[in-house]
Amino acid sequence: MNKQIQVTIWNEYRHELSNEVVKGIYPKGMHQAIADGISCDQFAIQTATLDEPEHGLTEEKLKNTDVLIWWGHMAHGDVQDEIVERVQKRVLEGMGLIVLHSGHFSKIFKKLMGTSCDLKWRESGDKERLWVVSPGHPIVQGIGEYFELEQEEMYGEHFDIPEPDELVLVSWFEGGEVFRSGCCYKRGLGKIFYFRPGHETFPTYYNENVLRVIANAVHWAAPTGDTPPRYGHFIPSLEPIKEKG
Ligand code: ZN
Repeated sequence: MNKQIQVTIWNEYRHELSNEVVKGIYPKGMHQAIADGISCDQFAIQTATLDEPEHGLTEEKLKNTDVLIWWGHMAHGDVQDEIVERVQKRVLEGMGLIVLHSGHFSKIFKKLMGTSCDLKWRESGDKERLWVVSPGHPIVQGIGEYFELEQEEMYGEHFDIPEPDELVLVSWFEGGEVFRSGCCYKRGLGKIFYFRPGHETFPTYYNENVLRVIANAVHWAAPTGDTPPRYGHFIPSLEPIKEKG
């Protein structure tokens, strides 16, 4: 068997503890629903939450994480800058990062994007149709042309992000808006995937297509294990250099 991919699912885990509706949908938290939903032999999954010491993201845990999944919303400001920098460093070293839904406004995503990451939104339970715009891309393997979520929060363009390296999904909403809902980036050696669905008052993380996209994205974002490049003063040269006079 190939080496398992070490996956850490990070969740703010506040809505589930303070809102009865959310608690009813995700009694063990969204992180546990996602962990159960993508569980397979190829993944070794751990979870981490905001209120654990160091937000559950110690140096040791991040060092042993191949792909980090991030869900946050009401408490982005409570995430310590020191931990954000720790996560950014690991992404630049090659750790994969999957940012879900309202994570578009997380400190880590904004830091890696360098833009406001702002968008339009509406909590009206719109139907969402997610179209595959990059057929054959590994993240949408097994999805078909599109899939639908009966009720979701609407996110609309313009989404203030840098041009994605690859755009794999575009959402249409019942109210008429559209949104780039599956966006791939590279920062340093790390691969980043932003995936839009996942408002806390809907059972989105039980949807088989949503889980399939997340699981596919874990495979896509996992580091390859290649030797990292060397930087800086490069001595000796690979070939002898003739003296020029
Ligand atoms: Zn939301």
